[in-house]
Amino acid sequence: MHVFRAHQPNHFDLPERIQRLGELAYNLWWTWTPSAEDLFSHIDPTAWDQSRYNPILFLRGVSKHRLEAAAQNLDYVDLYDRLCSAFDIYMAARDTWFKRNYPDFENQPIAYFSTEFGLHETLPMYAGGLGILAGDHLKEASDLGIPLVAMGFIYTQGYFFQHISEDGWQESRRVTLKFEDLPVMPLLDEDGQPMTVTLDLPGRTLSARLWEIHVGRLPLYLLDSNVDANNEADRALTARLYSADMDLRISQEMLLGIGGVRALRMLSYNPVVWHMNEGHSAFLGLEQARELVQAGKSLDVAVEKIKAQNVFTTHTPVPAGNDEFPLWLVDRYFSGFWSELGLDQEGFIDLAGRENPNGQPTFSLPVLALRFSGQANGVSELHGQVARKMWSFLWPGVKEEDVRISYITNGVHTNTWLARRMGSLYTKYLGKDWRDHLDDQDMWERVLEIPDEELWRVRRHLKRRMVAFIRERARGHWMYEGVHPVQVIASGVMLDPYALTIGFARRFATYKRANLILRDLDRLMDLLKRPNRPVQIIFAGKAHPSDEPGKMLIQDVYRAVKKAENGGRLVFLEDYDIHLARYLVQGVDVWLNTPRRPMEASGTSGQKAAINGAINFSILDGWWREGYNGKNGWVIGAENEYASSEEQDREDAESLYDILENQVIPLYYDDRTPNQASSAWLAMAKESIRSMAPKFSARRMLKEYVQKMYLPAIEQKVKA
Ligand SMILES: *Cc1c(COP(=O)(O)O)cnc(C)c1O
Repeated sequence: MHVFRAHQPNHFDLPERIQRLGELAYNLWWTWTPSAEDLFSHIDPTAWDQSRYNPILFLRGVSKHRLEAAAQNLDYVDLYDRLCSAFDIYMAARDTWFKRNYPDFENQPIAYFSTEFGLHETLPMYAGGLGILAGDHLKEASDLGIPLVAMGFIYTQGYFFQHISEDGWQESRRVTLKFEDLPVMPLLDEDGQPMTVTLDLPGRTLSARLWEIHVGRLPLYLLDSNVDANNEADRALTARLYSADMDLRISQEMLLGIGGVRALRMLSYNPVVWHMNEGHSAFLGLEQARELVQAGKSLDVAVEKIKAQNVFTTHTPVPAGNDEFPLWLVDRYFSGFWSELGLDQEGFIDLAGRENPNGQPTFSLPVLALRFSGQANGVSELHGQVARKMWSFLWPGVKEEDVRISYITNGVHTNTWLARRMGSLYTKYLGKDWRDHLDDQDMWERVLEIPDEELWRVRRHLKRRMVAFIRERARGHWMYEGVHPVQVIASGVMLDPYALTIGFARRFATYKRANLILRDLDRLMDLLKRPNRPVQIIFAGKAHPSDEPGKMLIQDVYRAVKKAENGGRLVFLEDYDIHLARYLVQGVDVWLNTPRRPMEASGTSGQKAAINGAINFSILDGWWREGYNGKNGWVIGAENEYASSEEQDREDAESLYDILENQVIPLYYDDRTPNQASSAWLAMAKESIRSMAPKFSARRMLKEYVQKMYLPAIEQKVKA
């Protein structure tokens, strides 16, 4: 058996007294632990900003003199000692929710597969909500002591950086990441050689090496095809997320599914549960089947065994958004594989073949995932319904409501997304140990006791902080990037820290309708520019580089933003990522979401905004349909079925303007003295926090995954 170990590529030259900073830098625990960032930033705030919050770069570059000064500073060392001991207690995991409730299953690993993980701004391994959800899933699993091990890709070029040209066209910039600059460790064998898995692709063998990220208590393993043994094209196989190239895509997904299983085996894991986060990793079922058939089981028996241990979460409510491959491509990639399952071509295609909505025969990854899993779920109540309807053809004769796809509504990792100042307020009014009770509704009732002035002070601070951050970025564009003045204004240099501020930030996919609020621009601008009640709107988001309609949507928004007569009240911020998202969800007053119902499976950004005291203003789709209670925000449009999307857009826009004019703006500005907020506004903000913080926490979500999805599988396996 091989012995592998994760190896820290950097040795930092640190003073003895604060030696462990190197270890802390290589565990993402610091990113969600209150005050832990101070361990780096207090040593040298300027260098910390310049490192872009990357502790590896920071520790490598910060001056010796600064480190020595910190090691001599009593306050600093005190903080250091406290955090080291908190880290040790956390890592020892003596008392966790999982251990208390399921002590017998503590050593039963649960494998979690995803193509993206959104964990921190230094790790651009995500494109949007799916990745952020996976990141939050890992962090919360770690906090609860759930024995998860995760598998994904480390992309050598990450996701792209976005630049908007003067005429509003999205340009993407790529950089090649240097893994030694990131909190990522190579897995090496006893001889110091990279650990690799291999996989047969047409005409060649693909190799991939493995890296590891410590996410608190959990390992996240990442596959990387950039190794000498591969040809040039294969070395770039894991360079980017979601290529439109079919060969690249099927190869990537084979590497994740099949290679990922092999990697876990090589690391001596024998997971009791395998969780596929979206269909991209569905090929893992084929590798599991191959293992069992090779061990002498019949395929039918193998599939039954596999189903007992596999869990599948679907995120895509539109048939066209689901991953599928034409049959000729499947022939090319799997003709060597099906005989190992004891199947011929036809039998193999039958595993996941379907006629797609365009009438073409395809091999569908969600079909494969559904056939090879005993538990499946959508990510909100409505999405569960949509998914049951969409996939009911797989269970002929079963009534739609009995199709076995349940739902677990998404939630967010509170400590990742909550502003520090809000955290302090909760400590004061909810109790010192409030972070131990994140999903406890009774505790959150105490939010109503927070005095208006205190909440208002924090909210104002957060908005000013956001505006200052955005203006500094705009200044950077102006000084260093030679952009046109109009782009500087578009990037937020004229933002008003006291105006009612609406945020809209997410992937620019057409169904999300970023331009819905711009449908009648004159009407909108009339609302935004009224005397003494200024309103401003901040847009941000990337379109997938091959999504032309998405890029046109950005252009549409940007054109409105650029108009001088709009007085800088509309803003488009480039390069939406976790870092910017945190400022926005913490700083804006209103979080706007206008998806074309029912296409938003869940959405999570509004949940992040809610825990920070921003108020949601959204279509009754995804999570908001469950979150809205009549007094914790506003609803746009109705739960109707429309004859056309044109009609739907028209009605939704009408409703949006009407509510903005008659409810949102008056609630913010009426009954208000110069330094005081309207107490009706703050009452709604508190109601929003009270009603939603526990329900849409990743804590509630993870407990549900354990109870509904993981435990049935664990119990079957452990008893067997
Ligand atoms: C939360 C988040 C998302 C997902 O937001 P949605 O509400 O699902 O659109 C996407 N990108 C980033 C950077 C986020 O932080």
